[in-house]
Amino acid sequence: MDWKEYLQKEKHCSCGKNHVCDIEEIIIEDGAIKRLPQVLGKHKYQKLCVVSDLHTEQAAGLMVYEELEKAGYAFEKVVYQDEELVPDEDALIYLFTRVPNDCDLIIAVGSGTINDLCRYVSYKMKMDYYIVGTAPSMDGYASNVSPLIIRHLKTTYEARPARVIIGDLDIISQAPLHMIAAGAGDILGKYVCLTDWQLAHIVNGEYICPEIMELVRESIKKVAENAEKAAHRDKEAIGAIMEGLVLSGIAMSYIGNSRPASGSEHHMSHYWEMMFLLDQQPDPLHGTKVGIGTVVAIRLYEMLKEKREILFPLEEPSFDQELWTEKIKEAYGPAAPGVLELEKKIGKNSDGEVLRRRSVFQEHIEEIFKVVNELPKAEEIIEILKSMEAPYYPNQINVSEEVFARGIYYAKDLRNRFGLLQILFDLDLQEEFIQSLIQEIY
Ligand SMILES: [Zn+2]
Ligand SMILES: [Zn+2]
Repeated sequence: MDWKEYLQKEKHCSCGKNHVCDIEEIIIEDGAIKRLPQVLGKHKYQKLCVVSDLHTEQAAGLMVYEELEKAGYAFEKVVYQDEELVPDEDALIYLFTRVPNDCDLIIAVGSGTINDLCRYVSYKMKMDYYIVGTAPSMDGYASNVSPLIIRHLKTTYEARPARVIIGDLDIISQAPLHMIAAGAGDILGKYVCLTDWQLAHIVNGEYICPEIMELVRESIKKVAENAEKAAHRDKEAIGAIMEGLVLSGIAMSYIGNSRPASGSEHHMSHYWEMMFLLDQQPDPLHGTKVGIGTVVAIRLYEMLKEKREILFPLEEPSFDQELWTEKIKEAYGPAAPGVLELEKKIGKNSDGEVLRRRSVFQEHIEEIFKVVNELPKAEEIIEILKSMEAPYYPNQINVSEEVFARGIYYAKDLRNRFGLLQILFDLDLQEEFIQSLIQEIY
């Protein structure tokens, strides 16, 4: 695929904004790592730092070292020794203390966590940043934000996209199947993201860009069409998934935040992740959780559709701030202060806001359900995930009933981002939908 039209060009868009993607080069092909010296040759880097973990060093790091040595570059190696690396304070400090101050380029070798950590640290240390991807497992390669877990709270931090993205098909096609399936899951979630975004546009007048939506749709198409073949290790199909993941990241870069690529399915998955980490339980890959969050979110949208004719009239809203605060403390534990602070600032749950959104919802109900009706069926998403041997229900990854319910209730409070979960709150549907989904799943 030709990336030129996206790279380092200002796109004058029909939405009225200019979109810029700061990435210089994207190379997704067989033997891509061998092109590293040629890419580096365009700059005058003096001192490089290659960051990997025990697995990614073996998978691709050694090859990177070899290419750099052959080309005569001086470089430091930083290798995370953790079996399960988490993008938290510990991991950040480790990197900050090991990257030499006189380094001018960080080359990350890995996928999700390594990429998030290195993008953030290189941004803060004002160094250039390249990523050598080792698995098509998430859409963060081209994104310009880093989701990190600080004080137990999963928050998205501003950073810069990688200058160069290298996806060597010889390597990423060898990635474990559950990682490839996670990449597919991350992209299937975009069905929900685009729906949430359009509803936010209708209900809150939030900015939206049709061309970026189109880009995300293209990314979904690549993944949906290639998932099954990728499960059978078809190299071209795995390459197409990698391309879809990079495209989705470009969409985020264009906007400058994760709106086009993260909706209610991501919020639930972030909540589950925080709970897994707090309970010191194994935390499945980001995209694995997002795939499951997608099935859940689409089921909830389906339930909303079934209720369409009887949504109104509703009882007057009566938001009990004190009770809600207690519930947030229960649901978030040590991460609660950040969540409470956000609500204090924006007050999205207040009766006034709920009433306002309800009336816009009612007024635009035709338009809203037209958008909702474009979603695929939850069953179709389940079939794709099954074809990749991936889990599709939260109980299959040990999300407890309690955490599952709390995710639907309170994951919306992690962000100031309107979508499905807020709609369920606004229309008094949380309790009923949660109970019937628990019946269905657990
Ligand atoms: Zn636009
Ligand atoms: Zn994601």
